Amino acid sequence: MLSYRHSYHAGSFADVLKHLVEVAILDHLRLKPKPFTVHDTHGGAGRYAIDDAHMQKTGEYVDGIARLFGERTGVAAVDRYLSVVAQLNPVGRLSHYPGSPLIAAHLLREQDRLQCTELHSTDFELLRQEFAGDRRVRVEKRDAWQGLKALLPPEHRRGLVLIDPSYELEADYTQVVEAVRQALRKFATATYAIWYPVLERNRTERFVRRFVEADIPNLLRLECCVRADASGRGMTGSGLLVINPPYTLAANMEQALPVLQAALGDGHGHHRVAQLTGE
Ligand code: SAM
Repeated sequence: MLSYRHSYHAGSFADVLKHLVEVAILDHLRLKPKPFTVHDTHGGAGRYAIDDAHMQKTGEYVDGIARLFGERTGVAAVDRYLSVVAQLNPVGRLSHYPGSPLIAAHLLREQDRLQCTELHSTDFELLRQEFAGDRRVRVEKRDAWQGLKALLPPEHRRGLVLIDPSYELEADYTQVVEAVRQALRKFATATYAIWYPVLERNRTERFVRRFVEADIPNLLRLECCVRADASGRGMTGSGLLVINPPYTLAANMEQALPVLQAALGDGHGHHRVAQLTGE
């Protein structure tokens, strides 16, 4: 039984990083007219109302998107992400935070496709309703790992596979690497973005090392910690491992991550952009 609900965490500093990277990758795919497919393994509910009781209970968005919404930072990747969030809201007001599938759907063109899997009954139903009538989008109530096997490769050779587990189960940490290895065999030309939390530094490093030891090629690490590492004191940061990143991503994130860290951090955090394996 899954208890995680993203509605408690939407718009947090971790979502800001994840969705900033998602927008940057999708913008790169949009440069060419050839169609692409986005495969979102852990879709969530799609959109999250700011005045919802869950959002208000944790207030995580207050130290996330709310610190940046309406700002212009002068850094292209950050401003572009903020403009996408703004486009999905009424003018000048943050009424809801868009999840990864809503952001992807907003950036799809007529020729592109989005396929999402989500297991939680309530969130699956919200996600299904969100895209009812949009023939570019397919939403399935399916296990993420099983969905990767069943739904890849998609019809198009270009794409993004976004893997965003809740890491409720320890197995999520181990399952990801094998799932990615298998998915790469079927869909080697895609960009993969795998989100991970920084809760306890040693565990995070073990997680990242598994990818390097599995000989996953062309692996870029992006991480933004809003506080200093501290075991047992909750999530101090988060990161993404990006396989086959757009060639512009590392340079763009070198500019964007310091801005995120300054805006969302307490002054003791850190960030990193590191190419871990070559092509
Ligand atoms: N990607 C979403 C976004 O950025 O807006 C947020 C996803 S949230 C971190 C993780 C989601 O995965 C939750 O909605 C949870 O119900 C779902 N989930 C957890 N385990 C799953 C599994 N094995 N298969 C499919 N969905 C799962």
